[in-house]
Amino acid sequence: MATRKKVAVITGGAGFLGSHLSDRFLAEGCRVICVDNLITGNLNNIKHLRKNKDFSFKRHDVSKKISIPGTVDYVLHFASPASPVDYLEYPIQTLKVGALGTHNTLGLAKLKKARYLLASTSEVYGDPQIHPQKEDYWGHVNPIGPRGVYDEAKRFAEAMTMAYRRYHKVDSKIIRIFNTYGPRMRIKDGRVVPNFIDQALNDKNLTVYGNGKQTRSFCYYSDLVEGIYRMIRSKHSGPVNLGNPDEFTILQFAKLVIKMTDTRSKIVYKPLPVDDPKTRQPNISLAKRVLKWQPKVKLEQGLRETLAWFQGQGIGK
Ligand code: NAD
Ligand code: UDP
Repeated sequence: MATRKKVAVITGGAGFLGSHLSDRFLAEGCRVICVDNLITGNLNNIKHLRKNKDFSFKRHDVSKKISIPGTVDYVLHFASPASPVDYLEYPIQTLKVGALGTHNTLGLAKLKKARYLLASTSEVYGDPQIHPQKEDYWGHVNPIGPRGVYDEAKRFAEAMTMAYRRYHKVDSKIIRIFNTYGPRMRIKDGRVVPNFIDQALNDKNLTVYGNGKQTRSFCYYSDLVEGIYRMIRSKHSGPVNLGNPDEFTILQFAKLVIKMTDTRSKIVYKPLPVDDPKTRQPNISLAKRVLKWQPKVKLEQGLRETLAWFQGQGIGK
């Protein structure tokens, strides 16, 4: 007798990461139910899946009650605006999807006795005073600053996930994702990777915020998806940092984009957004130990592939 296919509900499945995760779960022989209200996502990201009989799309705001018929084995909660520009444009929706959306998706996991995975973020560490960041660091977040809508929503989401784990025995997992990039990011989503690519490919000056000495550590999407897949199958509940520890200043990153594109763009400096973290680098020793995972794709390689993808989408000359 054929074994039943596992069913994964992926919220935010029409977004950048959620669509890649959908691909991976389908490739692993699962059925995928993508739930997305398209606030920052795009149906183009899942266009190639629409004819796949194991894939279905449900347009729904997960801050409202969710009902899914039948068996569900995994719930992966990825719905949330993720770019600082997006979550500043949608502050209330961001708070709601981190709070109510997490509550609703945990309720779904509890009802279906499904394994639950929360996509948390390095932003729970805020503007960190410990470097690199390790999972036992409690963070340095301004709750009333503009980024608080995202940071505090994700911190609440982690607390809610732990409460459901302790009180309702939901088999939950928390991952803290550090800056991840790649194909299917929205070119205008405002994050530094698509911004610089858009600017470089259109010969516009690259907008470095502040003095460009702030750091980020960029992970290619394929490495992240592998880490997430290992996490959902592991016994470990987390939180576990997932990211690439190779750290760059934003100025170094701008220079790399200029070097890798045939551009006439120069660098211009713009004001640093309020509460922009000065440093960010994951300590991934826990992921290495419990998931036997570490990123493989170097920034230049991932950037080359991402540039090629955006050019294929008609971005630039
Ligand atoms: P994205 O904006 O491309 O995807 C988010 C998706 O969630 C979109 O498709 C959007 O329409 C959907 N969504 C938002 N609110 C919703 C709601 N109320 N109901 C249903 N769908 C909703 O961003 P992404 O980079 O793919 O991020 C996905 C998740 O990963 C987010 O939870 C984000 O916080 C987390 N994360 C991403 C990164 C990163 O570097 N990409 C880093 C840390 C955490
Ligand atoms: N940044 C920049 N120019 C841009 C966009 C972003 O210098 O056009 C900087 C931003 O201030 C931050 C870093 O790049 O220090 C990463 O920003 P992003 O929006 O990608 O995400 P964050 O890591 O801040 O969540």
